[in-house]
Amino acid sequence: MSVGGRNGIALGAAVARAIREHGAEAYPFECCGALIGHGGAVIDVLPLPNTTSEGPRRRFLVNAEDYQAAEAAAESRGAELIGFYHSHPDHPARPSQYDLDHAWPFFAYIIVSVERGTPGAVTAWRLAEDRSAFEAQLLAIEREEPAPARWADARSGE
Ligand SMILES: [Zn+2]
Repeated sequence: MSVGGRNGIALGAAVARAIREHGAEAYPFECCGALIGHGGAVIDVLPLPNTTSEGPRRRFLVNAEDYQAAEAAAESRGAELIGFYHSHPDHPARPSQYDLDHAWPFFAYIIVSVERGTPGAVTAWRLAEDRSAFEAQLLAIEREEPAPARWADARSGE
């Protein structure tokens, strides 16, 4: 699948569900968390706390402590920290100017819109090379199915 490559981001069903549920839980505040995986394939998430020393998160912000925790979590799973997700309570799933000002190059950014407590659209972004804007990424979300093969070991299940 080419979606897992440089220009696409792939979410397993459980990962997509975890992001949506975190967004609903944190409502009316923004939630945020780390994306763990390989390349553009997200295999796990690490929800980050919804409060910081400055109080409840109203804006997506990852501090040094969060970053270290995310890297350690990724390493313990034999994977990499590949990006971050956050929610937009009662706002569309498009990056804000604030998001742009605080984004890092190379990372994948997932945004979930949460309308009146209910998670909606999920979008994926990367910073443009000149850091002037976000570029929308192809996003593949594995369908929720009761079927056996889990996304992560689909290859070995053949
Ligand atoms: Zn945002």
